[in-house]
Amino acid sequence: MNILVINCGSSSLKYQLIDMNEEKVLAKGLAERIGIEGSRIKHKTTGKEEVIIEKPMSNHKVVLELVLNALVDPEHGAIKSMDEISAVGHRVVHGGEKFASSVKIDDKVMKALNECVELAPLHNPPNIMGIEACKELMPNTPMVGVFDTAFHQTMPNSNYIYPLPYELYEKYGIRKYGFHGTSHKYVSKRTAEILKKDIKDLKIITCHLGNGASICAVQNGQSVDTSMGFTPLEGLAMGTRSGDMDPAIIPFVMEKEKLSLEEVNNLLNKKSGVLGISGVSSDFRDIEEAAQNGNKRAKLALDVFVNRVKKYIGAYMMLMGGVDAIVFTAGIGENSVEIREMVCSGLEGLNIELDAEKNKIRGKEAIVSKDSSKVKILVVPTNEELMIARDTKELA
Ligand code: ADP
Repeated sequence: MNILVINCGSSSLKYQLIDMNEEKVLAKGLAERIGIEGSRIKHKTTGKEEVIIEKPMSNHKVVLELVLNALVDPEHGAIKSMDEISAVGHRVVHGGEKFASSVKIDDKVMKALNECVELAPLHNPPNIMGIEACKELMPNTPMVGVFDTAFHQTMPNSNYIYPLPYELYEKYGIRKYGFHGTSHKYVSKRTAEILKKDIKDLKIITCHLGNGASICAVQNGQSVDTSMGFTPLEGLAMGTRSGDMDPAIIPFVMEKEKLSLEEVNNLLNKKSGVLGISGVSSDFRDIEEAAQNGNKRAKLALDVFVNRVKKYIGAYMMLMGGVDAIVFTAGIGENSVEIREMVCSGLEGLNIELDAEKNKIRGKEAIVSKDSSKVKILVVPTNEELMIARDTKELA
């Protein structure tokens, strides 16, 4: 059984075709610059050369048509015909309170998805466009929606209600939703498997540190709290996002800098975080390099980032009454030896002991704590596509 996993952004589309009998990737690719000049698809079938398809792509439907053609292409394709795709799994960013798990997509679900657009105006519309394009091109293939927010629907209201007038929650659904749920779920499950423990007996803190970053407290296999909130802007300092700050800064800066709502939104989402502090880059490789070369603001950006990670780990230890495993994932978590070292330094008194030698790995599963460390520290590369494919297989 082959599942096609689709992740649509506003100008990009990532895909993977996965053989679920062996959970093996048959082909994958990325379409970029959709709707603007220079659009192209990088397509790679496992065991074959990568091909680049450069053509004008005005919308997601055009892209999907090209992707499907690439998948069945006799030369660089992975399958003989589209009949070999049993189902399609779509990543959907926001499921609001409507979706606590993945769902098979029908007209009722499409209506509910459209109602969630208000909560994620930047992310949900391209997700919906992807689903609609797929429905047109593959009308008889079952589709499943997998939500970034779903895993966090187990949070107790004491962790998701903001200290604002309660009517704002009732009227507009203003509450913490949390994101990266598919990743936190996958990584926490893998952690239990690697430690050969029942997930129900574990308190796990998962640190998804990528360009967007969030931390999750997982108890009994369920999300009890997470650092992202009503939108993916809350929590950690990120590549370009501010994360937590005094909300009074917003009206203050708007007045001083004469910014519109759109401009201040852009400042907080696109010009802040480690880019804003360092003035160097949003990419941690550049910032680490600049810091090593003596750039003080780059060093400060790393310190701010790391301190926030530490603070959330501390808070979640308190919320869960302890922790059995701390797990690092995503671009920075999987690859940055230095950031893992900085986050774990000084925590030995809490029985969190990183092994400097074991920690010298990138991008593969490993336990990187000392044998004597009561709290286990792990690196677990995330695999959101596989998680989406598994849910899709189950529901389709
Ligand atoms: P997203 O999916 O949110 O775009 P990723 O999970 O791909 O983000 O993570 C991107 C981040 O990972 C970038 O900041 C990049 O610098 C960082 N990263 C990747 N490789 C390394 C590395 N070897 N050392 C430090 N940071 C790295």
